[in-house]
Amino acid sequence: MKYIDIHGHINFPEYDADREEVIKRAHDAGVGIIVVGTDLESSKKCVELAEKHEEMWAIVGMHPTEATPIVEVHSSKRVDLRKSMSERVAFDVEAFQTLAMNPKVVAIGECGLDFFHSKLEDVAHQKEVFIKHIEVANSVNKPLMLHVRNSHSSTNAYQEALAILKDHAKVPANFHFFAGKMQDMKDVFDAGYSISFTGVVTFAHHYDELVRSAPLEKIMTETDCPFVAPLSHRGKRNEPVFVIEIVNEIAKIRGGTSGESVEMITEQLLENAVKFFGLEK
Ligand SMILES: [Zn+2]
Repeated sequence: MKYIDIHGHINFPEYDADREEVIKRAHDAGVGIIVVGTDLESSKKCVELAEKHEEMWAIVGMHPTEATPIVEVHSSKRVDLRKSMSERVAFDVEAFQTLAMNPKVVAIGECGLDFFHSKLEDVAHQKEVFIKHIEVANSVNKPLMLHVRNSHSSTNAYQEALAILKDHAKVPANFHFFAGKMQDMKDVFDAGYSISFTGVVTFAHHYDELVRSAPLEKIMTETDCPFVAPLSHRGKRNEPVFVIEIVNEIAKIRGGTSGESVEMITEQLLENAVKFFGLEK
């Protein structure tokens, strides 16, 4: 294993026709895979997949927009690909607790706060579900995979998530698909947490400053497939092997100023994940 995609959804139906080929392409290229559940059924599927494959691990939990009804945002592909629900969904603590104890499960999530796709009146329920995830993570002593997304209004989801973690979490946490501001990133690091970047860094350059200024040992790499394919496959289905393009782009963005080589960055990004999730290489 030379690379790792720490957050993707090859458990989704988008891969039903060729899932084993997608996994083989990653495996042959030395890419480890962490597959992330977004509700109970998809979490079970992650565990099954991870149990069947080497260099594959699972994360179990309920996406914040699975816990609360989605506000339709037409610019968001995520909404188009999901079934919209009209009711709040309860978090089945017992069922997730059982899954969380599986040795192939390396974190709890993706969980957190999504103010972008949610109505204000659902935020309290989202917070309640988030805290239940934290309690499960504490009880099995495994880290948290966070999904945090701001709305256009003044509430800062990052700051609210940090406050909840401060009160409840006894385990490490990673802010996946980090899209906050520089100050949010600093606050995340000051609280002892990490962030991960997706293929967005290959086609949009508004995160370059974050990529450059983050301490290398605080960042990880992910595809969030099937969403946000990197530049070479922009607009098409994403898959774990494309994480190599993301690693190379991070190396390119940082390389000029830090003097870090591509090899060194590649190794450290893998090492960060191995340490964070306690993986057996
Ligand atoms: Zn995700």
